[in-house]
Amino acid sequence: MVATESNNQAPLGSTDIDSHNETFYPGPSRIHLAAFPPKERWDDWTELDSQAWPRRKERHYSLVPTTCFNCESACGLLAYIDKDTKQIQKFEGNPENPGSRGRNCAKGPATLNQVTDPDRILYPLKRAGKRGEGKWERVSWDEVLDTIAGRIRKAIVEDRRDEIMYHVGRPGEDGFTERILAAWGVDGHNSHTNICSSGAREGYQLWMGLDRPSPDHANAKVILLISAHLESGHYFNPHAQRIIDGKTSGAKLIVFDTRLSNTATHADHYISPYPGSEAAILLSIANYLIQNNLYNREFVRCWWNWEEYLEQRSEVGGQRSETDEEPRSGEMFIATRPDQVMFREQRNAEHFAARETNSSKVDGSINISRLRREDNPNFDEFERMLKELYAEYTFEFAATESGVEARVLEEVAKLVSTAGTRFSSHNWRSATSGISHGWSVARALFMLNSLLGAVATEGGVFPNAWNKFVPKPIYSPPHPKMWNEKTWPREFPLAMNEMSFLLPHFLKEGRGRLDTYFTRVYNPVWTNPDGFSWIEALTDEKLVGCHVALTPVWNETTYFADYILPMGLGPERHDLHSYETHDSQWLGFRQPVMRAARARDGEDITDTREVNPGEVWEENEFWMELTWRIDASGSLGIRQFVESKKNPGTRLSVDEYYGFIFENSVPGLPEKAAAENLTPLEFMRRYGSFEISRKIGAIYEETVPGAELEDVCEDRLGRVFTRASKPASSNVVPVPSPDGDAEGRRLVGVKVDGEIKRGFPTPSGKLEFFSRTLADWGWREYAIPTYIKSHVHPDNLEPDQTILISTFRLPIQIHTRSANAKWLNEIAHTNPLWLHPSHAQTLAVRTGDLVRVETEIGYFVVKAWVTEGIKPGIVACSHHMGRWKTHESGQKQLTATVRLDHEGDAWGMKRERGTGPYESTDADSLRIWWSDVGVHQNLTFPVHPDPISGMHCWHQAVRVRKAESTDSYGDVHVDTEKSRQVYRKWLRMTRPADQHSPDGNRRPYWMLRPLKPAREFYRLPNNK
Ligand code: SF4
Repeated sequence: MVATESNNQAPLGSTDIDSHNETFYPGPSRIHLAAFPPKERWDDWTELDSQAWPRRKERHYSLVPTTCFNCESACGLLAYIDKDTKQIQKFEGNPENPGSRGRNCAKGPATLNQVTDPDRILYPLKRAGKRGEGKWERVSWDEVLDTIAGRIRKAIVEDRRDEIMYHVGRPGEDGFTERILAAWGVDGHNSHTNICSSGAREGYQLWMGLDRPSPDHANAKVILLISAHLESGHYFNPHAQRIIDGKTSGAKLIVFDTRLSNTATHADHYISPYPGSEAAILLSIANYLIQNNLYNREFVRCWWNWEEYLEQRSEVGGQRSETDEEPRSGEMFIATRPDQVMFREQRNAEHFAARETNSSKVDGSINISRLRREDNPNFDEFERMLKELYAEYTFEFAATESGVEARVLEEVAKLVSTAGTRFSSHNWRSATSGISHGWSVARALFMLNSLLGAVATEGGVFPNAWNKFVPKPIYSPPHPKMWNEKTWPREFPLAMNEMSFLLPHFLKEGRGRLDTYFTRVYNPVWTNPDGFSWIEALTDEKLVGCHVALTPVWNETTYFADYILPMGLGPERHDLHSYETHDSQWLGFRQPVMRAARARDGEDITDTREVNPGEVWEENEFWMELTWRIDASGSLGIRQFVESKKNPGTRLSVDEYYGFIFENSVPGLPEKAAAENLTPLEFMRRYGSFEISRKIGAIYEETVPGAELEDVCEDRLGRVFTRASKPASSNVVPVPSPDGDAEGRRLVGVKVDGEIKRGFPTPSGKLEFFSRTLADWGWREYAIPTYIKSHVHPDNLEPDQTILISTFRLPIQIHTRSANAKWLNEIAHTNPLWLHPSHAQTLAVRTGDLVRVETEIGYFVVKAWVTEGIKPGIVACSHHMGRWKTHESGQKQLTATVRLDHEGDAWGMKRERGTGPYESTDADSLRIWWSDVGVHQNLTFPVHPDPISGMHCWHQAVRVRKAESTDSYGDVHVDTEKSRQVYRKWLRMTRPADQHSPDGNRRPYWMLRPLKPAREFYRLPNNK
């Protein structure tokens, strides 16, 4: 018997194990080995030491919760901290986390590899040679802080605030750093989102005012995924387990993916469409629902902005001849040379712009001009129009576009029609990030939900903000009084996020410079398209004065930094997060586990560097200290936002920062903590998460209470504005108000059948079938959901071109950060080109042969993998691999050593060595048996900014052929002059605010934007 009475463990053989008929060896934990350690025992959890076997040696652990930081799902982790060695032994799932429910993917437990990574950056480093030369010297945190604070202070004082930029990859937190930038008065937030998810976000925002879906997969009858959600999609593990829950309960799963993903193998209906045709298929399903009256008529009547659609038709209808011929928007002419490729819609942009005010064509491919307004528009009329508008989206049309049989599409449509309000769907990256106008795919997908009324229903899809919780912080600095054109240029007034991946082009064409540029968990040289243009910009000190890389690991961008500052991994830092994993609200707390463990033992830790390896810090404390030093005297009005309320005149601590939030801003938490005799902060340090509400439901349908209706006025569309302020109680989930009325009232709801409901945070308060925003800002032809031929539509490819899908993830790796996780690297370390056997036969290549993939600006050489798991004629290559370094220092496990050749605009990369065994503090590094680490394909991709969403359109029109005898594996060649030409070509497709803004603003104020500037700075310069 190994249990003792003191730790409350029952003796062997007398526990609930027997009653569960367990077959596992029970072990000292007294419970099923597959179950979780009960939280009552987290202070002293006992397990047998596997390495001592066959001896039965007990080890005692303190179990401390934190949050995984290997993707944005924010799954809970439990660190097992050995009470004797004071080391982290392993990470497992935290059963207290409502999102992940104790389950993790492989990347969660592999956090341990990252903590013990022998190559990790442990001390602040300063560049010792030229940028990119790979020479570093160790410096103190004090020197770093004083130098950077001095630069920033000078830029602020000299009103060069647009020269300060913070460029974040994976945020992993809810607004902390945005508030720091706001405290500085700087519109300097830059994100990775436009290379990630802006396409989907734009499509969802156009419909519901919020940019992410929160599907209730577990309760769905039919689940439709346009992504690989069971293996790698957004909110991957929390969603994946709920998809399986749904399937277990009988839900049918439909998966669209050109590539046979692991997710697709679980589908009841697997559709492999021609890339870019997804919206055509979705609209054919919509058409089936519409023509057969299989949609939720009452929901559409109440909650679509059909009246506004009819109203705008009355404004523009009847002004064109029914015989007017117009080109189909989205069509392209066939170019005979790469430099000739351009959109016909761009060629026609002037034509569209000129007729914008009198056109009745709102659909890129279906002429609706024949529809005429009746004098008294009503819902019957709208339904009749709806039938006409979508009549051309037949299964046959979709089959032609997608290459999927009409019979199969009809079968899927019939299945969708049976779902009723239990239809959950999701599209994140995939098509929406691959093609031009990818946002139209998410928009077409959510149209199915909107037709079925499967919005905020059990088994349906919720707007994300209703299923997440963002607590009010201790300080909320005002909106910056400036607008940064380097991130929000006027060419992209409707972009979802900052035009981050165009930064090198903006800098190089003279749109300004950067004094101090922070990259944080971000590796643009490797992750972004057009990496050589990034190197050109980052090595030019006239363009980038000082580059500070905040990162836990070496990456390709750190080599071009002036300072590399070691930041904590998931279990070494504080953050808050809450995500739309299902219909609920929860708050997760990431914390440095060693700090929490030592606090449990009674130690008073005030600086996370005391417990982290080397001098690894965390960002919360770093940003607060840096902010303090920028304005040490308080004369700039900045210091006040990082000053302790408890001890004025001293800097805020993380304990006070989070303690304030947990005590004052999280409903129910103080009471729950008090019941366990804990402070709210102690409670969160102990359990790592808190469930605020188990079920949210349909907020849009809530009747607005009388207390919120003060001096109300109603506009012609039924939107209701009030002078009452927002409810103070954060128990009430706020509906973000898109705009107020002219007299300063805020939007509080929308009148439906005589009752004031909360509605949706769109300009109309309803689901927007018709987007007045698109119509007013120069894109009238796309004002309703429509299919738009993409930049890789067959019409736009030359005969010898095909499509490269470059965006898919492997479930075991995550972009840049997992390259130091040895367990993951052993499983997945290369990225061959997926090639269908018929295609391979044409090229005369077999698996393992080298092929050359030519893009618009260069080529890369990769190995072929011949597989039937890809649509014939299309090729695919995972984007996780091809990590490299130019010097021996840095990350070794998953990086090749390469030589960069550079002459003028011509760049080349030549592989000198792959990876291999090496000596380090980890004996496993001598066991590395692989040398192949894949090929860096993104270097050869030019930028493709979608003219509306701003999303980089990742799919590439390529030529694939057998490699030449002089080619070697991993070769990359790029001409950056060509990349500039492609950039300029896509820029010409935009419809800039200064030509198309309907109101003199740079951007519609209602649209989401990180770190919104003060309202007056939305005005275009000549529209003060
Ligand atoms: S899905 Fe995996 S990588 Fe992402 S947070 Fe969860 S455990 Fe970590």
